Amino acid sequence: MTESDPSETLFERIIAREIPADIVHETDTTLAFRDISPQAATHVLVVPKTRYRNVGELAAADPALLADVIATAHRVAELDGLTDSGYRVVFNTGADAGQTVFHVHAHVLGGEQLGQFGRYAGGPDAG
Ligand code: 5GP
Repeated sequence: MTESDPSETLFERIIAREIPADIVHETDTTLAFRDISPQAATHVLVVPKTRYRNVGELAAADPALLADVIATAHRVAELDGLTDSGYRVVFNTGADAGQTVFHVHAHVLGGEQLGQFGRYAGGPDAG
């Protein structure tokens, strides 16, 4: 992180229970809670309790913690009954990917047939 980063993001406040969230699973190192604006029947965010800005920083600094995040994502899928039907894990990283909260988080999506992903649907090649 850089000195210009805000000292706290929304997700630190959720981890500290200063902001309510629908928590679905917690481990010593991670917290999983439902996205406030779900994009699928299941849409859960998994965060490490230690803040890194994005998945690249997390992978470089603490690969074991990244493994914890993925293991929690899989546990969330088990808890929501998604392991047979399938699910998707996404780390938005930076502006083009639409990252808005700079505390690394995995999106766990599933519970219904998911759409394709990739190019912006409203972009110049749309239609
Ligand atoms: P990003 O766009 O950074 O990959 O994902 C941030 C996610 O945080 C978005 O999907 C957004 O809906 C979710 N979000 C934003 N504010 C809140 C909140 O106050 N509570 C919860 N549970 N999710 C939030």
